[in-house]
Amino acid sequence: MTGAAPDPLSDDEILAAVAAYLRLPDPSDRLRLAGAARIARQPLLACTVTRCVESRTESEQTRPAPHDLSDVPVYGDLGTYDPGPVKDVHRHTTVHLVHDGSARETGCTKCSHGRRQCANCGGRGRQPCPALQPCALCRGARPCTACEGKGTGRRAAVRPRAARKVKQPDVRTGCDLCGEQGTACPGCGGRGRTLHEECGGSGEAECRTCRGNGTEECGVCEGRGRLTVWTRGTIERTPVTETVGPPPPHPPWLVRRRLRNRGAWRTHVLGDGDALPEELAEHHRRAVRERLVRRKGEITREVSLRHLPLARVELHELPGKVLHVYAGHTEPGVVALPSRRVVTRLSAAAAGCAAVVVLLLATLR
Ligand SMILES: [Zn+2]
Ligand SMILES: [Zn+2]
Ligand SMILES: [Zn+2]
Ligand SMILES: [Zn+2]
Ligand SMILES: [Zn+2]
Repeated sequence: MTGAAPDPLSDDEILAAVAAYLRLPDPSDRLRLAGAARIARQPLLACTVTRCVESRTESEQTRPAPHDLSDVPVYGDLGTYDPGPVKDVHRHTTVHLVHDGSARETGCTKCSHGRRQCANCGGRGRQPCPALQPCALCRGARPCTACEGKGTGRRAAVRPRAARKVKQPDVRTGCDLCGEQGTACPGCGGRGRTLHEECGGSGEAECRTCRGNGTEECGVCEGRGRLTVWTRGTIERTPVTETVGPPPPHPPWLVRRRLRNRGAWRTHVLGDGDALPEELAEHHRRAVRERLVRRKGEITREVSLRHLPLARVELHELPGKVLHVYAGHTEPGVVALPSRRVVTRLSAAAAGCAAVVVLLLATLR
C-alpha cells in the first residue's frame, strides 16, 4: 500500500473550484462547503500494454543455385542467438539467419539440366485442336435446303471442305452430302462446317506452352538445374497491444466524453521494469498490475498510461446537481450534471407525458 502518495487533486483545490463555480468568493463560504460537501474520487484512466512477443523457428529453404547467402547472419544455436535489443516495441520485425554450415548446392530433382517435360502436352509437343469450325458463310444455319446438312448415309463420309473465300456467295451449289444440285451453301457444300484453319482439320496443333519441343524450363531451379539448400532460422518480433479497462467507480459517460480532450491528463510511458507512477490511484494501480503478467514469448513491454484526477462532489444546498471537478492545466475545472434524482424525476415526467399522449390518441380513435 502506498497511501503516502499525495492525491494530485487536493480537497482544498476541489473546494476552491466548487466555490468558484457557485460564485462564493467569501472564505467563510468555503469553510462551510468543507463541512457539507461529499467528495468521492473517481479518477479517469486510459492504459494500454504493448508487448513485444518473439518467436524463433527453423525451416529448410531452397533457391535456384547459385544463391548468395553471404549477407545473411549465421547462427549456431537459434535459441541463444542475440539479434540485438528491441528498439521499438510497436514495430514488427523479422530477422532471417542461416544455420552455420547448412548451406550446400545440390542437383535439382525436379528436372534434367533445368528442363523438364512440358506439363501441357506431356512431352508430345502437340496439343488437341478442334478439327472443324462453323462455316464462315452460313454459320451452320440451313447449309442445304434439301437435307439440312444431314445428308444421306453413303455420302456422309465425304471429307469436309477447307475454309476458303467463295466467289459467288449467293449462288447455292451441289450438296456434298445429299447430292442435290443448287441446294447447298457454297462455303461448306451443305455440311455447315469446314476444316479448322489452324490445324487443317488434323485435330492437333503445336503445343503453345513448349512451342512444340516437348520440354519447358523447370520452375523450381529456374532452368539452372541446381539448387542452393540451407536451414533458415527466423526470429520474428510482433507487437501485441491490449487495453486495460479502467475499474469502477466509473464517472458518468457524459463526463468521460467531455473530458476526453480536456483537463490536465498525466501521461506516462513506462518501459519494462519501470515502477507504476506514485500518484496513480490504488484501484487503478491494481487493475494495471493485474494485466502485467508475462505472456508466452514476451521479451519486453511498454505501458502507456494516462490518468486524470477527478472528483465527484455533492452538496446539500445544490440537490439538483452533481459537480465533477477535474485537474486543469492552470486550475481545476468543473463539469456539472443534473443529479440522478433529477434525471429520474425528469424521465418519469417524460414517461408520464408519453402515457398521456398514448391515452389521448386512444380516446381520439
Ligand atoms: Zn444436301
Ligand atoms: Zn456453309
Ligand atoms: Zn484445329
Ligand atoms: Zn508442350
Ligand atoms: Zn529444376
